[in-house]
Amino acid sequence: MYDIGHFIGGKRVAGKSGRSAEIFNPATGEVQGSVALASNEELRAAVENAKAAQPAWAATNPQRRARVMMKFVDLLNRDMDKLAEALSKEHGKTFPDAKGDVQRGLEVAEFCIAAPQMLKGEFSEGAGPGIDIYSIRQPLGVVAGITPFNFPAMIPMWKFCPAIAAGNAFILKPSERDPSVPMMLAELMMEAGLPAGILNVVNGDKGAVDAILDDPDIEAVGFVGSTAIAKYIYGRGCSNGKRVQAFGGAKNHMIIMPDADMDKAVDALIGAGYGAAGERCMAVSVAVPVGEETADRLIEKLIPKVEALKIGPWTAGNDVDFGPLVTREAQKRVLGLVDRGVEEGAKLVVDGRNFKMQGYEDGFFVGACLFDGVTKDMDIYKTEIFGPVLSVARAKDYEDALDLPMSHEYGNGVAIFTRDGDAARDFASRINIGMVGVNVPIPVPLAYYTFGGWKASGFGDLNQHGADGFRFYTRTKTVTSRWPSGIKDGAEFSIPTMK
Ligand code: NAD
Repeated sequence: MYDIGHFIGGKRVAGKSGRSAEIFNPATGEVQGSVALASNEELRAAVENAKAAQPAWAATNPQRRARVMMKFVDLLNRDMDKLAEALSKEHGKTFPDAKGDVQRGLEVAEFCIAAPQMLKGEFSEGAGPGIDIYSIRQPLGVVAGITPFNFPAMIPMWKFCPAIAAGNAFILKPSERDPSVPMMLAELMMEAGLPAGILNVVNGDKGAVDAILDDPDIEAVGFVGSTAIAKYIYGRGCSNGKRVQAFGGAKNHMIIMPDADMDKAVDALIGAGYGAAGERCMAVSVAVPVGEETADRLIEKLIPKVEALKIGPWTAGNDVDFGPLVTREAQKRVLGLVDRGVEEGAKLVVDGRNFKMQGYEDGFFVGACLFDGVTKDMDIYKTEIFGPVLSVARAKDYEDALDLPMSHEYGNGVAIFTRDGDAARDFASRINIGMVGVNVPIPVPLAYYTFGGWKASGFGDLNQHGADGFRFYTRTKTVTSRWPSGIKDGAEFSIPTMK
């Protein structure tokens, strides 16, 4: 058993609110620790600390700030296994997948070494007689990030790396389900040379989130989680005058054209549908084969592969394909949705509902499930299941296939598998979804591009990481200057124009 408090003012501190939540080992179902849930006062203490530390950090030249990120990258590499182990223990994902979680965050830290370049402004010499105009990007001050359970290393780093490299102080409110890794990341940032108070971790639930949304000194909030909460965060944060980006849930389709390489498409679906037990916002949860003949070939090849998936605890290393779900509630919810799909008339061609892991009977495991004959009106089609459940929705032709993701509420990721460049090009151009894969099932952009969904998958106008990460956590100031003569010639009473 262990207790996780908060990370404030450069060190771990115990929670004082008297409220805490249990941390489970998803593989065994046992409680392994507890995490403090912050009160308003504790959040306020973190903000005060951050506010005091931020001006000196903003005044530190960007190259020096970048050197902290450089060192942080080294430390992440040094501690990769330790971080991945802590992550798997609380999240349940396999050890190689946990390393991937850390690695994709590390790549954002690597990108943020470019802070001096990313923060450069523009300059127009002689925009008028003796007039120069230039723009500068300045940090906002104290900013925050609220993150989900499913990538406890990567998503906090999406948020705090650009914010801190840009000169802000940061309050991170990670998921209460797997809080160990965010605390370790804060420690590594200190070891990398970050001044105390610039990265604070405040653990908590809705109480801490509301305190962040209402805090007058927090200028911006970056959120990732489910759509209902994203909408709430966006509304409340914006009405309090904050800058908010809030990314939500997903239902990602993969279209399989008749000319696609079927073996490659099937392998792609298996990895993207069942990896991390489907607990990824970029998981493919709907396969859309075009034409009955394509659908029959797909199902025939998918069934044995789904049945052969290996499920187990993270300690089994490379011998497992995916692990348990994060909580017992998540397990119940996913099983309930599979039951609902059967009631609705979808064909459950692989039924993982009765899966029991020998020696881990109380773990939050769900066996791999595969539905065929899923249609637009069904709840299992409309809802984000967030479990190891793949639905096959048959389309009669390309336009019919295109219509499914186009008319779906969510717009995070989508993919098309085809050998036809024209179809792929048309698809990428017309689809109303933020991230598109062409023969790539999980098109998660690399750190130097930006990540963000459309429709109910994202609220706000800037994406995460890449150039948008810096834009979101900075504001532009534009200076128009005239030196030194001319100004002495007397006042100008009509509005200046640049004719
Ligand atoms: P969640 O919405 O339950 O929690 C996210 C965060 O919000 C957590 O920090 C949590 O403590 C907080 N929270 C929970 N309930 C709250 C409430 N009522 N009021 C205020 N704050 C609250 O999400 P989750 O279960 O941790 O994560 C899974 C979801 O995140 C999925 O929907 C997934 O698609 C989504 N996700 C989206 C992206 C993306 O970039 N679009 C990436 C990863 C995950």
